[in-house]
Amino acid sequence: MVGQTADHESADIFLPSSNSGREPSSAWTVWRRDSLHILGIPVSRITNDEWMVQIAWWVKEKDRLHHVCTVNPEMLMIAQKDVNFRNILSRVDLTVPDGVGLLWASRRLGKPIRERVTGSDGVPRIAQEAASRGWRLFLLGAAEGVADKAAAVLRDRFPGVQIVGVYAGSPKPEDEDAQVELINASGADILLVAYGAPEQDKWIARNAPRLNVSMAMGIGGSLDFVAGVIPRAPLRWQKLGLEWLYRLYLQPWRIRRMLRLPLFVMAVLLRGSHG
Ligand code: UDP
Repeated sequence: MVGQTADHESADIFLPSSNSGREPSSAWTVWRRDSLHILGIPVSRITNDEWMVQIAWWVKEKDRLHHVCTVNPEMLMIAQKDVNFRNILSRVDLTVPDGVGLLWASRRLGKPIRERVTGSDGVPRIAQEAASRGWRLFLLGAAEGVADKAAAVLRDRFPGVQIVGVYAGSPKPEDEDAQVELINASGADILLVAYGAPEQDKWIARNAPRLNVSMAMGIGGSLDFVAGVIPRAPLRWQKLGLEWLYRLYLQPWRIRRMLRLPLFVMAVLLRGSHG
């Protein structure tokens, strides 16, 4: 929960409401320092609890948009070839460790990530915090009707949550102006973009300068999970680090994308701490 400091390395964290004269962004500097490079991309070792504290800072400060990426091995492999995406991942405000392969890589590189921080868990968690803290959410993307359904589920689970906008849209640049207008007019604090990686992150990076939200993040298929369109892997599978296998079972067309995983393992083994 926001309001509690998370485990061992979080002593320096203060919530906006308990800011005893510190610089507003002091918590942020902790996450900046506490990251590691995997295949040349910075990955934060932040935990879920710490992330919620950080969001509370950003929403309170309202100084600019903070771009968060939930990164996984597949995205890091895409970034090896896609220079634009690599630059985006290197410059965003926070890359959180989604994907069990990153936990393995971090142990291998001697700087273990403490826990997975996923978009799929993050969306309901953000909605829960939003309900109690008054954060306003905008859901962009996913197939027609899915975001509406997800919004209804979240409102039901977290009474009082303010979902101030829902729009399926498309990641095409020609549709951007209308979408940005809609988001800004909604007064949202947090924008969740479900266009899949890397398109969703490129969309956010392109439009960041004109979006009046405090945080924007790509959430991939998270709205499909929340809406119940695609079932999430059972907890047992998640704990065994086999969520990717369950997804492959449900969506066999993912096999081509998932072939990047063994390449990721090889690249980490070859590059080691030269990251
Ligand atoms: N999507 C979309 N428009 C597009 C492409 C994708 O709305 O042009 C949505 C799609 O419906 C899904 C999400 O983006 O909800 C991508 O999910 P995927 O599972 O591919 O993303 P991942 O979780 O693997 O990043």
